[in-house]
Amino acid sequence: MKKILLLSSLLLTSPLLQANDTSHWSYSGHAGPQHWAELSTDYASCAGLNQSPINLTGFIEADLKPIDFSYQPGGYQFINNGHTVQINYKKGSSIKIDGIDFNLLQFHFHVPSENHINGKSYPMEAHFVHADTNGNLAVVALMFEEGKKNKELAKAWKYMPESEGDKNKLNPLIDANAVLPANRDYYRFNGSLTTPPCTEGVRWFVIKQTASISKEQLKKIKHALHHQNNRPIQATHARAVLK
Ligand SMILES: [Zn+2]
Repeated sequence: MKKILLLSSLLLTSPLLQANDTSHWSYSGHAGPQHWAELSTDYASCAGLNQSPINLTGFIEADLKPIDFSYQPGGYQFINNGHTVQINYKKGSSIKIDGIDFNLLQFHFHVPSENHINGKSYPMEAHFVHADTNGNLAVVALMFEEGKKNKELAKAWKYMPESEGDKNKLNPLIDANAVLPANRDYYRFNGSLTTPPCTEGVRWFVIKQTASISKEQLKKIKHALHHQNNRPIQATHARAVLK
């Protein structure tokens, strides 16, 4: 009996088995971004031609209509999934773009930023993830610069999930509307999820106006993430970035 237990515990901790576990991916090493497409057939899109993040540059002037935001306070839970820290959002907040309603599901953070703007990286980027009723995705991205303390995020930072698997209740509810700046002009391009399975066909909107976060707030999120969680810049290929 003892022998069997020992064997099964060896198998469970074997690096070989971990490599074969299709769900396992990371930001460095053998399961890092350069290998995502090889880790599982489910991750084949990670080698696609319309991947995110990108360096936003070579902008094409376009008549971009304002995004119609209908947000209310709804961030009720702060989780750490080992890849990011994420604020899950109650139903009832949405954006309207291209005549389609996309519901806000969650927003999460990358340190440092994933997208670059004219070659510039930012200390942090937030992704507000939305889906329409057909499962089409729209991500609103917001860049943060180090400076003043972010008051709305401070309400969530109090409940920072420090370790993988932590789920903390947020009280009061966080208001995504108060995290976004007043001016919501944006850059637009087509891209993908920036994590496996790297699904393409995602509408990306990067807000031009940056937000602010303090050095102490950055330190706190870095501590919870334990490592950088930005996928490297992907080739733009034939895509246009609209402004
Ligand atoms: Zn993201």
